[in-house]
Amino acid sequence: MKARSFPSVRSLIERLNPSYPVFVVWPEVLREKARLFIDNFPGEVLYAVKCNPHPLVLSTLHEAGIHSFDTASLPEIAAVRERFPDAHCYFNHPVKGRGAIDSAVDVYGITDFVIDHESELYKVEEYAGTDITIEVRFATDGKGAVYNLSSKFGAPPEEAVRLLKLVHERGMRAALTCHVGSQCLEIEAYRSALALARNIMDKADVPLAYFDLGGGFPAPYAGAHVDLRSMLADISATVKELGIDVPLLCEPGRALVADGCSLLLQVHQRKGDAIYVNEGVYGCLSEVNIGNFVMPARVFGRQGRALSGEPKAFRVFGPTCDSLDVMDGPFLVPDDIEEGDWIEVGLMGAYSLALATGFNGFMTDTVVSVEGRPHWLEEAMQVAEAEALSV
Ligand SMILES: *Cc1c(COP(=O)(O)O)cnc(C)c1O
Repeated sequence: MKARSFPSVRSLIERLNPSYPVFVVWPEVLREKARLFIDNFPGEVLYAVKCNPHPLVLSTLHEAGIHSFDTASLPEIAAVRERFPDAHCYFNHPVKGRGAIDSAVDVYGITDFVIDHESELYKVEEYAGTDITIEVRFATDGKGAVYNLSSKFGAPPEEAVRLLKLVHERGMRAALTCHVGSQCLEIEAYRSALALARNIMDKADVPLAYFDLGGGFPAPYAGAHVDLRSMLADISATVKELGIDVPLLCEPGRALVADGCSLLLQVHQRKGDAIYVNEGVYGCLSEVNIGNFVMPARVFGRQGRALSGEPKAFRVFGPTCDSLDVMDGPFLVPDDIEEGDWIEVGLMGAYSLALATGFNGFMTDTVVSVEGRPHWLEEAMQVAEAEALSV
């Protein structure tokens, strides 16, 4: 996938003078993150497509060596397989529609399915037969994560044991999976998930095709101390300690893509301590709002304006006419910011574009790539030097 590419954000602003939001992909950063996971996770790395299904993101990760994908719907499977016919898609939604299972099998030859309840097992079997791998998802306690992903899905451990045995008895390959919760900052959560998995494996005592540890790995939002390398090393050590000797998989979304994208928005009006911008909670910023994250930002002053004000947490109104489209201090920008200035918000790769709705006609449909690394992201959360532009 080719997108329009620019050598820098400054040059893209000078070229496009955008009054619409621009979603910026940094392929070099995405490749780096993919390598980090591939080199440090003791097993196979899948990408969780729901996190950011943009074709440029998918193809960059694929080029970087990620050839397996966690997909949860037929359109996600199609997006991957129509692009990369060799890719392995896991259908990792615990509750699937019959039509989706049927087509996944029939059109794409999918062989790996998640269940967390007996009824789903029979449903999958009806369309896929028994020459398949069934991953039983168990629930974790969700501790240490910003978003608990076990309150909706996942069998209690005893039930997971029973399901694994049942899968094996019916002549399918059994596998195990879980999700510790998204933006998981505690390594302890992975350790206890691994220990619980070990326990379930022992009790079930059936051959296992693999254990998929799920996603949940954190992005370095403000206040989060994130060291993925040491997290992955700890997981490797724990796997050894516990003597888990089945093949391992993981399926990160957020941690693979968060750093590798930013969002360029423009101020359309300032009213005192509030600014009105062209992106909001119905666009790419809904998760920033829900998670109360403070995102790193840098500003570009319009028409040669150099901004030099103190960092300030403005009330930020999005572009739709809905009163709910407002955020309190999602980023800090100089307090002399005005109409026409641009704000580049960093760490925007995860659950951003994927959640943008197009409500009220405000689409985030300009996606470009920028070469190099957004080095300012490393001073996460601080306002980097404000740049004055000629447009
Ligand atoms: C959302 C999801 C992921 C990715 O989670 P992150 O927290 O973004 O890493 C992985 N697996 C499943 C089953 C998911 O639902």
